Amino acid sequence: MAELVQRYLNLIRDEHAGVTDGALATYIPELADVDPNGFGLSLSLSDGYVYESGDATVEFTIQSISKPFTYALALDQIGQDAVDARIGVEPSGEAFNEISVDAAKKTPKNPMINAGAIAAVSLVPGATPDERFARIREFYSACAGRPLDIDPAVYASEKKTGSRNRAIAYMLQSFGVLDGDPDEVLDVYFRQCSFKVTSTDLARMAATLARMAATLARGGVNPMTGRRVTDTVVVQRTLAVMVTCGMYDAAGDWASAVGMPAKSGVGGGIVAVLPGQLGIGVYSPLLDDKGNSVAGSACAGACPNG
Ligand code: GLU
Repeated sequence: MAELVQRYLNLIRDEHAGVTDGALATYIPELADVDPNGFGLSLSLSDGYVYESGDATVEFTIQSISKPFTYALALDQIGQDAVDARIGVEPSGEAFNEISVDAAKKTPKNPMINAGAIAAVSLVPGATPDERFARIREFYSACAGRPLDIDPAVYASEKKTGSRNRAIAYMLQSFGVLDGDPDEVLDVYFRQCSFKVTSTDLARMAATLARMAATLARGGVNPMTGRRVTDTVVVQRTLAVMVTCGMYDAAGDWASAVGMPAKSGVGGGIVAVLPGQLGIGVYSPLLDDKGNSVAGSACAGACPNG
């Protein structure tokens, strides 16, 4: 069986390895400089068994794939009602970095766009930015099953070029949505976008969610370490917003074609969860015009159908 799965994974990878469509993200030099041919595909079963194909050990930055994890952490730490008071769950139909809030409630429309993600960072408890970041790092690492670190150059670039995010954070502050100083919250947001992960880390993080979604009685347990990470309710909500809002402006296409809760990032990664079954992590940095990895979307979509 294991051999069959491995062969199938290699087959999917080979099928899409020649993809040259799409373009690298260029808004910071570090993303524009990566090898466009990097291509890793990983699958983690909910019992922790991992299959890898291609560049599964190449590190890239997590970018927006951080968003569902910080949202889950905020839900876990302060509860759904408190989070819902600050962040909605409706698809925005706008660009991920739109400077906008829900017209009536004046809160971010969902946690998968920057406004909601920045608000989610501010809801993670912490007396200082370092404390808040330490909690985020601890949570991500627990999901991945290894300590994750940031790429300092990407972090510095995100911070240097982050005017749009600054505009969003100050807008949120003006509406009373942000808990904390906008620049301090943003500093943590820039750091969380800069975590270095591999496709296998993403697959393991997804498998943690996959397992949590199925183990109602036991709550969330990392399949590799056996450590409890968070509650099932938290995971169900997180997966729901991944389904409706996780793939930028292609979320509807993705939901109808693939259907799995997923999140992509401009670093070229995609994380996808098959609840109760497995987690998928893909890395291929050439992005389509919506910001989703071209080969990654094709592979992640093909994986659970095997
Ligand atoms: N660091 C990026 C930003 O906040 C994340 C981009 C992305 O992956 O969507 O603009």
